[in-house]
Amino acid sequence: MSEIHVLVIGGGIAGITAALELASCGVEVTMLEEGPSIGGRMIQLDKTFPTLDCSSCTLTPKMVEVALNPKIELLTLAMPIEVLRESRGFKVKIRKRPRYVDMSRCTACGLCSDACVMKGRIRHEFDCNLSKRPAIYIPFPQAVPQKYLIDGMGCLFISRGKCKKACVDVCGPNAIDFSQKEEILERYYDSIIVAPGFDLYDPTEKKELGYGTLEGVLTGLEFERLCSVTGPTGGEIKLNGKVPRRFYFIQCVGSRDRQTGARFCSRVCCMYTAKHANIIKDRIKDAQIYISYIDVRAYGKGYEEFYKNTQDAGTFYIRGIPGEVVQTKEGLLVRVEDMLSGEIREIDTDVVILATGVRPHKGTEELCNIMSLKKDEYGFIKVNATEPSRTNIEGIFVCGMASGPKDIADTVASAGEAVARCMEYLKE
Ligand SMILES: Cc1cc2nc3c(=O)[nH]c(=O)nc-3n(C[C@H](O)[C@H](O)[C@H](O)COP(=O)(O)OP(=O)(O)OC[C@H]3O[C@@H](n4cnc5c(N)ncnc54)[C@H](O)[C@@H]3O)c2cc1C
Ligand code: SF4
Ligand code: SF4
Repeated sequence: MSEIHVLVIGGGIAGITAALELASCGVEVTMLEEGPSIGGRMIQLDKTFPTLDCSSCTLTPKMVEVALNPKIELLTLAMPIEVLRESRGFKVKIRKRPRYVDMSRCTACGLCSDACVMKGRIRHEFDCNLSKRPAIYIPFPQAVPQKYLIDGMGCLFISRGKCKKACVDVCGPNAIDFSQKEEILERYYDSIIVAPGFDLYDPTEKKELGYGTLEGVLTGLEFERLCSVTGPTGGEIKLNGKVPRRFYFIQCVGSRDRQTGARFCSRVCCMYTAKHANIIKDRIKDAQIYISYIDVRAYGKGYEEFYKNTQDAGTFYIRGIPGEVVQTKEGLLVRVEDMLSGEIREIDTDVVILATGVRPHKGTEELCNIMSLKKDEYGFIKVNATEPSRTNIEGIFVCGMASGPKDIADTVASAGEAVARCMEYLKE
């Protein structure tokens, strides 16, 4: 089978699982990741529900396996721009952005980051903009590949031609290469697995909840970064240098919500909120935690028990979504109608955390256009219930959040399904 070549698009847990399984079947794989490292959203998480395992401890070994597997070619900063049917396979054009660092020379010593004049001045996307980074950087300590890159927009030399290039002076192996240009590669693949993952609802349009205007209102993903040892506070739950004691979570922000056009359940927010409550209880013993919900969906293995244990540990669940979050002298105040008692309650808090709903990845539309893939009513890649990885195009399969909300367990299972279907197709 060694002459068979499959393209995997997306380097999250779905793409990683698919690539490793294909390689174990003897297939040659090219993995495209548009970012500078593989890992997807899962590598941004602190722990995973329902077991509270360390997320990077489970994912990093798989990422390293991708990098070391001789059957997998990993292309980062790369995405497909044209896909054309050719016999039973596909001719694919790939755009590869420059890293401005020669990967064969960079030893990841980090001296360039320390020397960069933009150190501490550019918002760090990996930390949801809660920290700042230099123009030359590695996105997170366990990144794969373990190579630095220059962000062309942030670098004073690339964007304005005005920098003394201190990074170059300190780089012993002469790895920095400003002459790198964007490349277009043309390849043939026998089949394709798409796994571009997801984005999250932007809650700024829900003005009543204060995101973006009130200090102390965060999203769930921002809170993950605050809890993570690789995050902006080294894993200490701190805001403006202080440890908050009172937390208020709001579930279903942008899910099951006609106003935002997303009537579907995002399937992970109930459980990731319960996980956040557990992490807080573990680190801040006297914390007061409230969770507002419509109804709690705990459908997976061990999820109901996880939810009940969260309640038993002293987290208060209030049925009803708050109408308003306002600033007070001491912090924030949440106004909510408790649907079970019919009372309007006013609860003081230091932090409000919004469990924002899942959306298709922003590039999914373009990906569907170039591959002629059908989308469902919400913009996820269309599949049917009995063949959940088969798309409308023969030879192209999908897995992970790209076809709709899924937790990690279901994402991994969907990647296995996609590989099984792909192997069937290749054997025909
Ligand atoms: C706050 C939060 C907490 C969570 N906690 C948990 C938890 O505790 N337990 C659990 O089971 N689940 C949890 N989840 C869900 C979990 O994150 C997802 O199930 C999982 O990340 C889905 O993986 P994926 O590979 O499908 O997508 P992603 O993780 O989004 O990965 C997709 C990858 O594809 C890349 N990509 C996109 N488009 C292209 C393109 N055109 N070309 C090349 N590359 C592309 C992206 O850059 C990304 O790296 C949580 C989710 C959130 C938001
Ligand atoms: S680019 Fe040079 S200085 Fe920067 S991490 Fe790589 S080897 Fe070190
Ligand atoms: S050229 Fe200047 S701004 Fe760009 S990475 Fe080097 S030190 Fe930083």
